[in-house]
Parts: sequence; C-alpha cells; structure tokens
Amino acid sequence: MGGEFTLIGRYFDWPAPPGILGVGDDCALLPVSPGCRLAVTTDLLVEGRHFFPNTDPEALGHKALAVNVSDLAAMGARPMGCVLGLSLPRVDETWLEKFSRGFKALSGEVGCPLVGGDTTRSVDGIVISVTAMGEVPEATALKRSAAQAGDDIWVTGSLGAAHVALELLQGQHPQHINLLETLRPWLERPQPPVAFGSELPGLANAAIDISDGLLQDLGHILKASGCGADLDYSLLPVHPVLKTLNDAIVQRAVLNGGDVYQLCFTARPAVRTDIVALAARHGIEARVVGQVGPGQGIHVSASPLPLGKDGYAGFDHFG
Ligand SMILES: [Mg+2]
Repeated sequence: MGGEFTLIGRYFDWPAPPGILGVGDDCALLPVSPGCRLAVTTDLLVEGRHFFPNTDPEALGHKALAVNVSDLAAMGARPMGCVLGLSLPRVDETWLEKFSRGFKALSGEVGCPLVGGDTTRSVDGIVISVTAMGEVPEATALKRSAAQAGDDIWVTGSLGAAHVALELLQGQHPQHINLLETLRPWLERPQPPVAFGSELPGLANAAIDISDGLLQDLGHILKASGCGADLDYSLLPVHPVLKTLNDAIVQRAVLNGGDVYQLCFTARPAVRTDIVALAARHGIEARVVGQVGPGQGIHVSASPLPLGKDGYAGFDHFG
C-alpha cells in the first residue's frame, strides 16, 4: 500500500537480536539448532469476530502475539521470532502507537522479536495476522499424539476468568458486572507460560494450549493419542474471583470457556516433582487434575452439575 503506510515502519521496525537477520531484507533469517525443528504457528484476529471494535489497542497488540507464543509453548518450542500482517481501514497513529507498545512489550518479555511483516489498507475493519516461529528438539516435541495411558493430566494457571469476562462484555449476568474490571485482563491480556513450556520437552509427553475450552482441547490430545481421561472437577484451578458465582456459570466457564492460553499437558507420574519444581522456578501454578486412561472420551467426576452426553460445547470459529 502506498506512502501513508510507510509510516508504520516507525512503529514496527525494531532491531533484531544477534544471530537473526530481521526487518529490511527480502526474508528474515533465523538459526535453528542441530537436532531441533522449526515450529511455526499462525493466528488471525478479525475485528468484530475475535475482538470488540472498542478493544484497547495496547491489549490487542499483546493478545495478537500472546495467542501465537501460546501455541509455541504448547509444542514445547522456544520462541525465535514472529512476523506481523496488519490490515487497517485507515492510518490511526494513536492506535498504531498503542498496538505496537503492547506487542513490543510481550515480544520482549517472552523473547520473540518481530523480524518482518506487511501492512495494507482494509476495506472494512482491522485484521491482524501474526505468525510465530520457534525451535523444539525433534525427539521430544510435545505432540498431541504422544499422551500415554497412566499419564497425569496437568493444567497451568487458572480457568474460567476469560470466559466470564467475555460473557459480562456481552451483557450476560448484569448482576455481576462489578467483576468485569477484575476479570477483564484474563480475556484481553492472557499470559501463556512460554518459558515454562519451552522446558517441558523431556518431562511432558503431550500438550495443548487451552484456546477453545479445557474439555475440547484435552479432547484433541486424547483423540490424537487414542486414549480417554478421568478428570476430577474438585482439582481444577478455578479462578478465585469466580467462587462467588453460581455453579452453572462457573462450571461452564471452567470446563468449556476458551481464551485461557494456559497449558494442558500430560506426563508420567514419575516426573511429578520435577514438574512442580519447574513451575516454581518459573513462578507459575501447575497442578494435576486427572489421569489419562485407556478407552475414549472424558469422564468428569465431582462436577457440581451433570454434564451432557458430549460433555461440552466449546467455541467453534465457524459455528
Ligand atoms: Mg493451540
């Protein structure tokens, strides 16, 4: 796109770290260590579909990168770099300044430098595309198909806050609107455990990031691995603020709520203490919430309300 978009270079042209050829040539060049594979993931965020038109641009910059580095963490990959595609209806310098600030801050925090991108004028609304790249040891990448019967099932962080924030923004539960400001950061500024995830290969077997709901995402691991699971609802890390809400709201948010961007992973019981130590070293919560078993499907014990036959209805992008 023409001249007015060249000013975007002002907001996104950052120096690349040593060893990486970043913005300014035809391609970026990233080194991959021997024995490793390049892990690549991409996500599209569309205004009105994935975020509200009035979303704080700084939070949006954060989330656009967070959802991608979350996928790297779920593979056990160490971030190496990302590229950004932005399609905007007009040049809004205030928006760009804030968006780039949020993007850059998380990029620095998780060590995922911006190494390239493209911008163009959109016909209608904002479209953000981020592709993130990392490296992961070939032999121990956290594939969805690698869960084993007998594995513990782990969840990091807490569950439910992002989903309840979304429902409050949609006008549901008006009697609880006072909780919105507390819960909103979990929806708009997810904090995937990126460094922790990059140290899981060799300890964990399979992993996924919780983007569409715990039951749905764990279901992907189980299906790929040909296993079933028993989950104990009483062990799930329910966000503490949710405990004032009724069981129906909480249970749905915890089991089916998306936008969590924490990890669900499986590991042999023999490495429990290693995982607890790793989590402590990274200052994150991780707990065992169930076990992988033979058979298929997910059985949830101790849930406050009975589950439907399929157990859940997660977010379907095309639903
Ligand atoms: Mg994912």
